[in-house]
Amino acid sequence: MAAKKRVAIVGAGVAGLVSIKSCLEENGLEPTCFERHDKLGGVWNYSPELRPGQGSALYDSVVSNTSKEMMTFSDFPYPKENPQFNDRRSVLRHIQNYAEYFNLEKHIRFNTNVIDVQRNNNGKYWKLQIKDKDDKLSTEEFDYVMICTSVYNRPFIPSYPGLGNYRGTKIHANKYREPKRFLGQKVIVVGGHMSGGEIATDLAGSGIEVHISMRHDSMILPRMCRDGRPFDIALFTRSSIKSPSKLTATLEKMSHTKMSDHKEFDLQGSELYPVGKRMTICDDMAERLARGQIKPMGGIKEFHESGVVFDDGTTLENVDAVIFATGYEFAVPIIDDSWIFDKSGNAGIYKYIFPVHLEDPEKLALINIVHTAGAHWPVAELQSRIAARVLLEILLYQIKKR
Ligand SMILES: Cc1cc2nc3c(=O)[nH]c(=O)nc-3n(C[C@H](O)[C@H](O)[C@H](O)COP(=O)(O)OP(=O)(O)OC[C@H]3O[C@@H](n4cnc5c(N)ncnc54)[C@H](O)[C@@H]3O)c2cc1C
Repeated sequence: MAAKKRVAIVGAGVAGLVSIKSCLEENGLEPTCFERHDKLGGVWNYSPELRPGQGSALYDSVVSNTSKEMMTFSDFPYPKENPQFNDRRSVLRHIQNYAEYFNLEKHIRFNTNVIDVQRNNNGKYWKLQIKDKDDKLSTEEFDYVMICTSVYNRPFIPSYPGLGNYRGTKIHANKYREPKRFLGQKVIVVGGHMSGGEIATDLAGSGIEVHISMRHDSMILPRMCRDGRPFDIALFTRSSIKSPSKLTATLEKMSHTKMSDHKEFDLQGSELYPVGKRMTICDDMAERLARGQIKPMGGIKEFHESGVVFDDGTTLENVDAVIFATGYEFAVPIIDDSWIFDKSGNAGIYKYIFPVHLEDPEKLALINIVHTAGAHWPVAELQSRIAARVLLEILLYQIKKR
């Protein structure tokens, strides 16, 4: 066998770790993983403040909304004694145990921030520009690159008329940690998807007046189905979803909308259970709404100094804080946008892995930079295996050609 090919892996979250392992399993690839933080685990490393450059972040009381069966590694299940849905400490421990068991940490260089990825002059190698913790710059060359920097990279806040004049606290959900700082306040959570629902629920019931602003309806679903299965096993495995009608029936069985009328809550969820509707996985949200601890509002029309006007003309005055659970923009800041987007702005990413506008797209892979319905980890693992196998095939082809 010829000399091993060097693979740069950027990011040591779950996607980076499975990529290191996939490379090691393809004899012929030598992975070097760059992580700008001093620990592995990515977003599951909780910190009270955002770290420099960090996109998404956890709040203190977070519990996974995907089950331990689905949100794990194919060859490394959670211990039996772990609950069905795990808190942030247990999830991080599981990631750390995985890295230790497969001896992955020795391939990671911590405190190294990759700031740019370019082809070298003859297009044969990738040139990575790297900044260490003392801000010292260096460049290194690699045969291939796997980018594992997360799909939740650039927080998005929509532009609203008057938002600049609003005097209260305004933060993106990635800065929310715990209810304490909002005690006694009137808070609007904007966005009713996963984070919005969970944050509104986390705030509710502790002397905080919580309003949730939702532009679209959403099905509020519990983590567990009434037949005792986690929702993601019921919904997102092929054996469970044999047909759209079965899926609809499953949703119907598990939906809070069946137990509590969305119309009653003003969540505009008049069409029940259509496939493809937005989902909010949140156990307590329906009860909080029913108890009046979360007040549902429509979309926001505009802000003024101390309050908000909603699309239906309703106003809320003396609003102390607005938390924008409004998602993230697609961004891979360390590579050239033109490798992903064509001139009209359409993304071309084969299998959501290989950017098609590159001259030789198979030499650079994006891992887990895709939105998934359900757990992210199996997607990361499968993408990393496909990418590593493709990289090895290029190597074998080159050897054959000699
Ligand atoms: C509140 C919250 C709850 C969630 N709940 C779930 C859940 O229940 N189930 C689920 O499947 N997913 C959940 N997720 C999604 C979560 O993103 C995935 O679980 C997963 O861990 C993502 O892994 P990743 O490796 O792709 O990204 P990350 O974990 O974000 O890791 C990316 C790593 O890359 C590093 N990095 C970034 N840029 C650079 C650079 N230029 N140079 C060097 N290093 C860099 C970062 O420091 C980080 O360590 C949740 C996310 C949040 C925010």
